[in-house]
Amino acid sequence: MDTSKYVYLDYAATTPMDPRVIEEVNKHFRESYGNSSSLHSIGQKAAQILVKSRQTVASLINVKRDEVFFTSSGTEADNLAIFGVAFKNKSRGNHIITSTIEHHAVENTCKQLEKRGFKVTFLPVDKSGLINLKELEDKITDKTILISIMFANNEIGTIEPIKEIGKIAKNHDVIFHTDAVQAFGKIPIDVDEMNIDLLSATAHKLYGPKGVGMLYIRNKGIREGWGKCIEPIMYGGSHERDMRPSTVNIPGIAGFAKAVEIAKEAMPKEIERETKLRDKIIHTVLNNIEDSYLNGHASQRLPNNVNLGFRFIEGESIVLDLDGEGIATSTGSACSSKSLDPSHVLLAIGLRPEEAHGSLRATVGRFTTEDDVDYFLEKLPPIIERLRKMSPLKRGVDYMFDKNNHHN
Ligand SMILES: *Cc1c(COP(=O)(O)O)cnc(C)c1O
Repeated sequence: MDTSKYVYLDYAATTPMDPRVIEEVNKHFRESYGNSSSLHSIGQKAAQILVKSRQTVASLINVKRDEVFFTSSGTEADNLAIFGVAFKNKSRGNHIITSTIEHHAVENTCKQLEKRGFKVTFLPVDKSGLINLKELEDKITDKTILISIMFANNEIGTIEPIKEIGKIAKNHDVIFHTDAVQAFGKIPIDVDEMNIDLLSATAHKLYGPKGVGMLYIRNKGIREGWGKCIEPIMYGGSHERDMRPSTVNIPGIAGFAKAVEIAKEAMPKEIERETKLRDKIIHTVLNNIEDSYLNGHASQRLPNNVNLGFRFIEGESIVLDLDGEGIATSTGSACSSKSLDPSHVLLAIGLRPEEAHGSLRATVGRFTTEDDVDYFLEKLPPIIERLRKMSPLKRGVDYMFDKNNHHN
């Protein structure tokens, strides 16, 4: 397949690497092979690159360098945050609050904790995907040690009221973790202003390499420093200051830093550009395709996320037909699109299972052009029309409609 002609609209699943990042990673694969823990100069050169990269990543969210801990992924960062806080604080309490629309990396980690004697409250969301702040506050008890609510949802793009959540957490002296994987480098984040204690991110959703993530851990403010509020979940060497062992992935981390540097510079313009592409898709589809609707919040939404419902047909068939036209989209999150269960996020916003099955996610990004969007908007309507003609659900509705007409 000629992937250069492919229209890629699945940036929420992963992004292609920016060519400048590829260059950076390759350079470090060649030159910076030392172990950053070694005493010799090759090792020390690697250690310097690590310090510099940590500084760059920290600067994006306005935190100190020593508050950034590199991991192998966003998933590992989520596991470290949730297990790490739970295990460290179990003498203080065993209650955790999260939402019903978290990524599996948070959801399944919390479910695992339930098997180990912790109590987890899964907060419901409204039909646009927002949690209710009053309900959050009501659920806090003197046993609550952690609130973990995502910054922005990977399927429907809804941005949660993070600043308000942070305020509630702070007032009740509860640690606040946010999975910011979809927001990091795409929209502004200020962890101080938002009272965030722990924040997960990953490079591959940001035009960086796969297999590199990070967890921000607030040094001051939560208890008496990070060493007191969280413990490691893996044991080995003392890399990443005893919080996360294993020989440090210098080329990957340098690539992550390069991706952050580019994202920081590009952000204001990209927000504007991608929002326009996003809204063009949403408005064109809603205005031209019958029985279609938008999933997620109309405005409190990631600039690059479109999630549409099409009645009477299966999202999977739409994705496969679009793929046949050289367009990559998704039915939901990359993790759920291979299973037959409807998305837990779409069910949580109140869609019926058959509606949840009829959803299509199209996410734009840095390399998406207006031509790409126009091509998608040209190919989509005939696909929907064709699938509906074959749809037993749609035929059922038409039949009932015809029958009623006859009788009237
Ligand atoms: C992609 C994603 C993750 C997982 O990150 P990996 O680096 O792929 O492990 C976690 N949370 C959200 C919201 C995501 O979109």
